[in-house]
Amino acid sequence: MQIQLTNTLTRRKEPFLPTDPARVTMYVCGPTVYGNAHIGNARPPVVFDTLFRLLRHVYGESAVIYARNYTDIEDKIIAAALRDGVSIDAITRKYERIYEEDMGALGVLPPTLTPRATENIPAMIAIIQKLIDNGAAYVVPTGVYFSVGADNDYGKLSGRAQDELQAGARVEGEDDKRHPSDFALWKASKPGEPTWDAPFGAGRPGWHIECSAMIEEELGSPIDIHGGGIDLIFPHHENEIAQSESAHNHPLARVWMHNGFLTMDKEKMSKSVGNIITPRELLDQGWQGETIRYALLSAHYKAPLDWSDDLLRQAQASLDRIYGALLRLKDAPAAKADAPEPFVAALADDLNTPAAIAELSALVTAANVAKKAPEQAKAKAELQAAAHFLGIAQDDPQHWFRATFGEVAAAQIDALVAQRVEARAAKDFATSDRLRDELAAKGVEVMDSAAGSTWRRKG
Ligand code: AMP
Ligand code: ZN
Repeated sequence: MQIQLTNTLTRRKEPFLPTDPARVTMYVCGPTVYGNAHIGNARPPVVFDTLFRLLRHVYGESAVIYARNYTDIEDKIIAAALRDGVSIDAITRKYERIYEEDMGALGVLPPTLTPRATENIPAMIAIIQKLIDNGAAYVVPTGVYFSVGADNDYGKLSGRAQDELQAGARVEGEDDKRHPSDFALWKASKPGEPTWDAPFGAGRPGWHIECSAMIEEELGSPIDIHGGGIDLIFPHHENEIAQSESAHNHPLARVWMHNGFLTMDKEKMSKSVGNIITPRELLDQGWQGETIRYALLSAHYKAPLDWSDDLLRQAQASLDRIYGALLRLKDAPAAKADAPEPFVAALADDLNTPAAIAELSALVTAANVAKKAPEQAKAKAELQAAAHFLGIAQDDPQHWFRATFGEVAAAQIDALVAQRVEARAAKDFATSDRLRDELAAKGVEVMDSAAGSTWRRKG
């Protein structure tokens, strides 16, 4: 299956051709660990987890090496540690753990590698030294800066022209850099801040060099795919390219992919705006992790996605339909099947998750009408295989309905269903019908079969 991906660098959708199909490499910029990730921050890891699953399917599980880093040294982390009066490590380790729990709840597979910036400082120092040696960077009292003017193709990813960049934002504490758009590779040590020794003076790394070094150290460049949110194109990814390519004289990454924003009321979800909601808050409200995941995958990754309770309700209703079909077929014989070709082809077409979801819906319809046992077995296996690709519907269907109703309501429903089973056994059809109506009023549909009675949410 030929995967096609939209490359931000060429601005085209193109066939994905890894340098070495036996070692496919992907790097996605991970979180700065000083606070809870919001649901917008969860979009890149969920999108690229889905791509990871597709790559593993096409190239083999062990052929794909996916690194997602932790930025565990950065201005905001230092500020948070000072504010809370705790060590940097205490902050970063705490939020790494919370991040991993949140991602687990959203069905995100652990990446192959999760490097930390602080564990790759020597690699950063090595790149910076190379850039100083070849004239692409310079040392001044506040630190080491990359000289944007020395890089002829600076701006190629974001499409920003050099003269646009002349304006460059003023950054506090960087008064001695030579040009406003030059950026810090290394920040000279300040009292009370963590520092590392380096030949060009003690200090700490800038954010952009962290990713360049982790890519070099963990994967080796050029890598096949580099991903992140659209806001990282400039300056973060532009600067990663500038540093790495000026140091190594070959591309940093072949394909650059960027997900669109998650918005709320059409405004980008962000801490600074204050319109954030975290996965933990949604889970505490009773939404299931896979409902959140389904909602995140319901739009194409490049498109904006407007977050709302309505989106979550629709996602839950779609999952109900999938689990309802699996519940109907719960006693169908087990079979082995691959996800059907049209479903995989939709994902291979630039990770078109809405088209894949439409194919999944067709598989639900097939499962709902399957009559004979072999047909049922095949429909169920294909549905499960496709759902697995998206990282959804791997739960036991009965457990899904219990969880989405909540344990208290589920226990009441169980009791009514049990009474109804008794009434039917006693041929008390009036009571049995009354109980069915009572359950229907709660939004519950009872499913009777030779094996017993189960229930699901009414469609
Ligand atoms: P940050 O912690 O701001 O560096 O963001 C971590 C990741 O989340 C980056 O890849 C960002 O591009 C991405 N991101 C941040 N906010 C949003 C949003 N509202 N929608 C989609 N992605 C986002
Ligand atoms: Zn990065």
